[in-house]
Amino acid sequence: MSSTEVVTRFAPSPTGHLHIGGARSALFCWAYAKRMGGRFMLRIEDTDAARSSDESARGIMEDLAWLGIEWDDGPRLDLPGGRVIGAHARDIEGGYFQARRVNIYNREIERLVQSGHAYPAFEGSEELDAQRKAATAAKQTYRYPRPADITPGVFNADRWDRAQRGEAHVVRFVAPHEEILVADRVLGDVRIAPGELDDFVLRKADGFPTYHFAVVCDDELMGVTHVLRAQEHLANTPRHVALQRALGFRTPEYGHMPLIFNLDKSKMSKRDKAKAARAALKSALQKDPSLSPVTLAAGMGADSSQVAAFIAGENDSLDIAARAGAYLGITLPEIEVADFRANGYVPSAITNYLALLGWNPGVKTPDGKDLEKFDMPYLAAHFSLERIGKTNSVFDRVKLASFNQDALAAMSDAEFAQGWLAWMRTYRPQEAARLAGDGSPARMERFTLLAGAVKARAKTYADALRPAGFALCDDDGYTFDPAAVKKNLHADDGKGLSLLRALRPALATLEDWSPGPIHAAIEAFAGAHALPNIGGIAQPLRVALAGVAVSPPLGETLTILGKDSTLARIDRCLASAG
Ligand code: GLU
Repeated sequence: MSSTEVVTRFAPSPTGHLHIGGARSALFCWAYAKRMGGRFMLRIEDTDAARSSDESARGIMEDLAWLGIEWDDGPRLDLPGGRVIGAHARDIEGGYFQARRVNIYNREIERLVQSGHAYPAFEGSEELDAQRKAATAAKQTYRYPRPADITPGVFNADRWDRAQRGEAHVVRFVAPHEEILVADRVLGDVRIAPGELDDFVLRKADGFPTYHFAVVCDDELMGVTHVLRAQEHLANTPRHVALQRALGFRTPEYGHMPLIFNLDKSKMSKRDKAKAARAALKSALQKDPSLSPVTLAAGMGADSSQVAAFIAGENDSLDIAARAGAYLGITLPEIEVADFRANGYVPSAITNYLALLGWNPGVKTPDGKDLEKFDMPYLAAHFSLERIGKTNSVFDRVKLASFNQDALAAMSDAEFAQGWLAWMRTYRPQEAARLAGDGSPARMERFTLLAGAVKARAKTYADALRPAGFALCDDDGYTFDPAAVKKNLHADDGKGLSLLRALRPALATLEDWSPGPIHAAIEAFAGAHALPNIGGIAQPLRVALAGVAVSPPLGETLTILGKDSTLARIDRCLASAG
């Protein structure tokens, strides 16, 4: 690493899935490193032993990989198909998981204690609670009172010996009494007056470092030059700067990125899923008086008292929210990258949209509009800290969906078919089996035809399943929508029905069963029956084949169904509606 090389880092805590806001932080760090010809690092901050898991770390890495945000330095990730990320990571002492770097933190802690910048503190949690309560009762903000035997800059051997002998303790910082200035690259100068910092904890009673201590050590030891993170961490930064001074470390450049809010100005959080599910359950109960929390719980396969408590707002269980969503057939708001993935968004649309949350290229398109559509290489070539905004960003789901729709529409049919099927095999295996079976060339040919027919209007891969409904059911596995039957078959003295009856033999004798000839046959039929347009027969035919008057173009629809199914469906419709 050269001394001027830019090193950014994304440092998630593996306590759950990757939040979409975290993905935005990672993207900006990645983009800045690429723009500057530097390195982007992934560090796993797993020092909260109770809340961290390897599974979550792996999930976060997979989501980043899926988004195309690849780290130069960080844990090695082997993906299916032989793709490897982090293969050429710098080999650093202790590696990129904080929980495996405890020796390093202990070494630095000892250095701080010896130089009189930190000290073991022995108060138990009860004692601290009592102090806190007394402060609250006296309407004062609680601050840990520095013990009388602590003198800044002087090693307290007595306390160190007690700690070495195994007495339960935490290690606290001797906070300096001086102004701290953070020259933030996004927000400008942020100052903290002398005396604002308290003697915060650096090492917990379980021997693990606190977030503050680990982050400061690692940013130094891993050569991080630029810390770009969300504004919610701004309040932590003066502590980090004070610690860097005490440890004799460099202060990296800081840039705090705008927070991301929902359209209604609420913070985007996992609880949004519970909120949406609760609202849907309440409205289901209101609309249908025969329902109760007990019947709903049975349908959802959940515990009824839990469901009742959920509806009453007493818990925000994500499991119940997910079950309610599935049972009521509603899409819960996506919050984590995994949600967007499961609902059939594509990485290029997400990263493009995320790049605009707090940044823009400041470039006009030839027709004078703001340039909004770009890819990862563009971002890597043009990203700049100067253009990161100071104000909160709003997460506009409609706009993201339209980005995704455009990304899907821009794919070739074969590309879309491949992506759609890969998504389906993971998230909707039954549908995948139904539509593409074993993936044999003959099945893929039909599947690609279907993909091409639904692609243009689909907002997501999940959305593309809707117009494919006709291909997902058996020939007798759907109902004829009464309103559609009335309008398209029975109206006008049953004109639609008699046209359908007349069309059947024309189709039965058609030899070349592929989109062009089928379409031509239907057009010829419309002409021969003096219909003003093809819709006169197309709509009755759609009702027969799909139960409703919507389906992809008929040439494709009939080809995908095959001749036997098409005729069987027409016969069933004639028998049921005739
Ligand atoms: N582990 C911290 C988090 O996930 C990282 C914060 C930072 O970037 O310093 O919030």
